[in-house]
Amino acid sequence: MPEGDTIYRAARTLHRALEGREVTRFDTVFPHLDRVHDDTPITGRVFERIYPHGKHLLMRLSGDLELRTHMRMSGSWHIYRPGEPWQKAARHMRIRLDTDAFVAVAFNVHEAEFVRSDAPLRRRRGASAVGRLGPDLLAETFDDAAMAEGLKRLRAMPGVEVGIALLDQSNVAGVGNQYRSELLFLAGVHPRRSVGSLSDEDLSGLLRDGRRLALHNTRGDGPRRTTGADDPDRRLWVYGRADRPCRRCGMAIERGRSGIEARVVFWCPSCQPET
Ligand SMILES: [Zn+2]
Repeated sequence: MPEGDTIYRAARTLHRALEGREVTRFDTVFPHLDRVHDDTPITGRVFERIYPHGKHLLMRLSGDLELRTHMRMSGSWHIYRPGEPWQKAARHMRIRLDTDAFVAVAFNVHEAEFVRSDAPLRRRRGASAVGRLGPDLLAETFDDAAMAEGLKRLRAMPGVEVGIALLDQSNVAGVGNQYRSELLFLAGVHPRRSVGSLSDEDLSGLLRDGRRLALHNTRGDGPRRTTGADDPDRRLWVYGRADRPCRRCGMAIERGRSGIEARVVFWCPSCQPET
């Protein structure tokens, strides 16, 4: 699954290329998108803004329409010059939007819809998956109200393991699987501890670190890192380091699975006690 910052970067690249440009061609394999195109043509509309929300990528077009796509595990947006060969086979194409200067192609996107862009996202709650997302760690501002909302959503599931709750994008949007392990290590919290066993300070610390790490990784295109080290072997604290010594205490890092999708999680048994 792409991490939130990957979508942030993709959105930034797409926005720079497409903002203000007119759609000259629209193709999709999705009948429900094609129907919208038949009724209210996508061609002739102008890209107004491309931006991320959690793991969704939103493309706002003139005439009050927004294309929302969810990347899930394998989806991606590419940008090409007209005529430039694609890096993925055309059979993986799901949506294509051409302008005079660039072609934006969505590959292997599983979830896509057009929505009216006039209503604020929060007013669409229940109407679309975007509305159910928690506050976005990568939003331009993450103020006290956003923090309070994130805490409230986490607090609503006291019996759930914190490692699972953090990945649930309806609590807080933008924590990917790598960051989950890194955040919990930085906080000294075992991933199997219940949300209810943690203090507000613990939880808000996790969200603050989540935002800090995610924002840091949106700068530059280098590999993700959380330790601050440039050395490629030292970039992460625990993720992907099963059986190797903890960078703080030397104990062997453990690895397990958690969550509905059984995503792999790593922790230090000494720095992150279970009780
Ligand atoms: Zn340790």
